[in-house]
Amino acid sequence: MDAGLVAPCERPSAVREVRRVKPRPLPKTVAPLPDELLSGWLSRLAAANYCDDAELLAHIEIDTTHGSALDFSIDAAAAEKIASAARVASDVVRSLTFPAMTLREASLTAQMPFQHCLQCSREGLSLRHWRRAWAFDCQVCGTRLVQTLGKTGDEQISEKLIYRARRGAGMLECAARSRGPKQLRRAMRAVTFAMSLKTFRGDPSFAVQNPRSEVRLFCLAAIAAARSHPLAKAAIVSHSIDDYARVALLRAFEKEPRLLAAVDHIAQRRARSTGMMTAESRS
Ligand SMILES: [Zn+2]
Repeated sequence: MDAGLVAPCERPSAVREVRRVKPRPLPKTVAPLPDELLSGWLSRLAAANYCDDAELLAHIEIDTTHGSALDFSIDAAAAEKIASAARVASDVVRSLTFPAMTLREASLTAQMPFQHCLQCSREGLSLRHWRRAWAFDCQVCGTRLVQTLGKTGDEQISEKLIYRARRGAGMLECAARSRGPKQLRRAMRAVTFAMSLKTFRGDPSFAVQNPRSEVRLFCLAAIAAARSHPLAKAAIVSHSIDDYARVALLRAFEKEPRLLAAVDHIAQRRARSTGMMTAESRS
């Protein structure tokens, strides 16, 4: 990466220095669009001024290692510097960051981009709502958001899965914004369940922010399934359960024995009725 337009230098006494050193206004500025994310707008600003993001931040004298963190919290000094370089009010700069959120919202808001709208991305846009785990369709153009690590081209995702995942995403939003923790706990349990069946590892809140569509869509669909069926059916719905998946389930629910017993019971009953279970695994 280039060192930038201005060599970085140490500034120990922040406030006094900042007042004194204002970056020179950039030759060109661009107006922020509704719901635009600060980092996205800075990228457009950089492009308009024929430089890259790192060079722009170096010019404004903002530590480049904090580029994406700026979207979540920006101090007054940094906002002021960006504002004067871009010739906008510092309130405008601040309005492009995420507002204060509850812990629940924060756990479902990605620090890094994991999905985008192909249509709007082509125009260089990067919008705030794309970072929410529950965002499913672009609020600007209505196109379905796609995961950043999804296979490019026409992915073979079934319409049914998309339909279910979209419903699950809506429920996740309600859960994230509800007053009590109960709804979200239920949603995350369904996600944990889905993860255990697909042997995904990690935190369920990260699974729904996964940059791979096969992970994210399946987990969102499980939230919708858990609502319309008893929990246990959530993930069994699409796949007959095998011994391997049962072991994964045992692991996922080891801290909730009652729930596990219910899950296991339904799984066995289901397997028996479809005749897929072998005699050994019943014991
Ligand atoms: Zn769009």
